[in-house]
Amino acid sequence: MTLFDAELESRLTRYAAIDSQSDAASASGPSTEIQWTILRLLAVELTQIGAADVRLTDYGTVLATIPGTAPGPTIGFLAHVDTAPQFNATGVRPRVIRGYNGGDISFPDAPGLTLSPVEFPYLAGKQGHDIITASGTTLLGADDKAGVAIIMTAARHLLENPHIPHGPIRIAFTPDEEIGRGVDKRLPADLGADFAYTFDGGAVGEVEFESFSADGAVVTVRGVSIHPGFAAGKMVNAITLASKIIAALPQATMTPETTSDREGFIHATDMTGGSSDMTLHFILRDFERDGLAQKGEILRRVCDAVQAGEPRAEITCTITPQYRNMRYWLETDMTPVELARRACAQIGVEPVSVPIRGGTDGSRLTEMGVPCPNLFTGMQNIHGPMEWVSVQDMAQATQLCLALVKEASTGAVPA
Ligand SMILES: [Zn+2]
Repeated sequence: MTLFDAELESRLTRYAAIDSQSDAASASGPSTEIQWTILRLLAVELTQIGAADVRLTDYGTVLATIPGTAPGPTIGFLAHVDTAPQFNATGVRPRVIRGYNGGDISFPDAPGLTLSPVEFPYLAGKQGHDIITASGTTLLGADDKAGVAIIMTAARHLLENPHIPHGPIRIAFTPDEEIGRGVDKRLPADLGADFAYTFDGGAVGEVEFESFSADGAVVTVRGVSIHPGFAAGKMVNAITLASKIIAALPQATMTPETTSDREGFIHATDMTGGSSDMTLHFILRDFERDGLAQKGEILRRVCDAVQAGEPRAEITCTITPQYRNMRYWLETDMTPVELARRACAQIGVEPVSVPIRGGTDGSRLTEMGVPCPNLFTGMQNIHGPMEWVSVQDMAQATQLCLALVKEASTGAVPA
């Protein structure tokens, strides 16, 4: 049992049981009403532990301050309260496997499901840890309630121990990260941090400062609709043309299922419509600006070619920027990354920086002027029924947070 185990376990299981799933199809912000429940709860709890300036903004972000006890830069810590829309998140029943024995983990509500240390080697290294999972029919939501629990626990500790030297700390709990809408345009100014960190990473040691660069694309296909009995030489079926577009894209070399490491992709996320009209959605991802632009160009050319082959149809392709690799900004000043690495070393953890094949709130925030790398929480197998997190991994993340603010205050970081 380390200092923070019991508190982290109780916070995570409590927060995880609150449904706060986001919904990309909703136009409101936050995207779902239910997210307000946990946002309001966190505002109350921050007030109870003695945080200052606690505020729940109308864009659904909880903000708070831990006043500085020593000179130092103002550091922000962020976690998102929403859970992924990709899997059932209603009725989460977290349970704790105390002193994990290293064997297979079964689930009370899904007899066929097994979480195996052979299949997931990271789990094999967690013998003796307290492992939290859901019950088998839902995700757990450690993504990112582990981050919320870690920040709340560190905040409570710092507020109770004002002799620990640290500069001003700002806390932000955001909604809708999973649908790419976590960072409101007002957040950088409201946060008021010199730099920040998201606690939204996985394995112990992760200090991430590279994310994908991301665009979204919408392709529409308008065919020519006519009664099929009189269609000879007249009908243009939009489904046929949409299928041609999909088939002409580099399916064997540039999709999520055929790429890894530093490779980007074009991913068709959905295709709806009928013979008269079709709408196709894509996400384009690459670590480099050129690579991303090239993927947009491929999609455009395919649309142009299919259009040229059927002039009676009307095909449009609209590409919209989503977020950019935070490395573009962080590599000009690696101070926040170096600080996190030094803090890792202080708690005896080897820092690892692997490019994130996705984005975080930090990607947007960095682009908007607040450098924001991503730190580990311990969460594993996210967005599905086998999601789990070790309490002791979360405790190390909490120690990292404390080491980091101390290091920033006493270290050679310019204020
Ligand atoms: Zn997350």
